[in-house]
Amino acid sequence: MERRTGFFAPHAYLDGRHVRSAYVEVDERGIIVRTGAEIPADAPPHVVDLGRALLVPGFVDAHSHAFQRLIRGRTQRRGAHDPSSFWSWRTAMYDVAARLDPDAFEAAATLVFREMAAAGITCVGEFHYLHHGPDGTPYADPNEMSLRAVAAARAVGIRIVMLEVYYARAGAGRPPEGAQVRFCDGSVDAYLARIEALADAGAAVGIAPHSVRAVGRADLARLVSHARDRSLPLHIHLSEQPAENEACRAEHGTTPAGLLDELGAFDGCNTTCVHATFLDADDVARLGRARVCLCPTTEADLGDGLPPAGPLLAAGTRFCFGSDSNAIVDLVQEARLAEMGERLRTNRRLCLAAKGRTVAETLLDAATREGAAALGLAGTTGRLAAGEAFDACVVDLDDPMFAEVPDDALLDAWLLSGTAAPVRATYVGGERIH
Ligand SMILES: [Zn+2]
Repeated sequence: MERRTGFFAPHAYLDGRHVRSAYVEVDERGIIVRTGAEIPADAPPHVVDLGRALLVPGFVDAHSHAFQRLIRGRTQRRGAHDPSSFWSWRTAMYDVAARLDPDAFEAAATLVFREMAAAGITCVGEFHYLHHGPDGTPYADPNEMSLRAVAAARAVGIRIVMLEVYYARAGAGRPPEGAQVRFCDGSVDAYLARIEALADAGAAVGIAPHSVRAVGRADLARLVSHARDRSLPLHIHLSEQPAENEACRAEHGTTPAGLLDELGAFDGCNTTCVHATFLDADDVARLGRARVCLCPTTEADLGDGLPPAGPLLAAGTRFCFGSDSNAIVDLVQEARLAEMGERLRTNRRLCLAAKGRTVAETLLDAATREGAAALGLAGTTGRLAAGEAFDACVVDLDDPMFAEVPDDALLDAWLLSGTAAPVRATYVGGERIH
């Protein structure tokens, strides 16, 4: 007989709505079979009482570079190696990127994925470019490093989608330099053959041209059409720095978003642009047909600047969030800083509320359902709803941060005043992983 498990919590977000005395029933595969208010009379004998808790879908971290966790705390002082701009920070990051072997990389990934599980993150999009040996020579299995990331995620129990980066050059007309030789497959054909083998090995994959700086127009066009033809997620860093826009205008006569639009990336393609910080009005309109992954704690750490999040939302952009450099691993902080950054930028309050949704509900949707959609997992994870996996995080309402908060403001308090610290348990596919 099929074994089902019930979960009960006084508060939950079920399919995006606050439900009191919430009940979720999960089958033996970890798939939600029904949800509702109150434990039904025909509930299975085993119902897990989650205690005084708020149950929400597990967070989906749509943009991570796991290895960058290793420079946490190491780029915060001026000295011989002065990381006081994005580009000099990148030098410090490349120093680590150049020396990691597969064992060290897997250890770093395990470290960061454990932090993710503890922060209620149940799925990660790993934007992965450390493909080959330090001198660019592929390992015996060209997917060695990618498989190590997958192994780390499996060991911790979180889902992973490998956003496999295609990288070809340091900039227009410039061959890859230094650590960048590790990132390069040599050709789009070699790249596509490699990720096909990775998918055959059981990994979920996405197409990830690194940026318009690192990929030329012809290659980018092929990658966009491949993603569309195969219904794979397409992720790309976009307009994180003014220098990227200037170089793009010089090479292509348009902005990075303009180039992607010319290549059809915003039509019939599951495209996520990461950062989208320096945009003109035409770019904002274009990105209204796409998804933007904001990584506000990394963008703040790197001094990137504030993206025009409010105008993007008004244009129709769907948001998701990423921990990016993993200096901070906490999507509550990403969500809050996205809203607070827009308040600071505009001198207004309550900026990122989608139609019919509160700010906190909009942020929760971005951090869960929309992140799943960005990774090609819409309908699989990201909502507590029948048919989706029971990927969930349990927030401890006995945490002092919730004292005196009214029941109908719990999510507002958590996402706009809190951190991931009150996450007491994390479930993936019905199994507790933290
Ligand atoms: Zn990134």
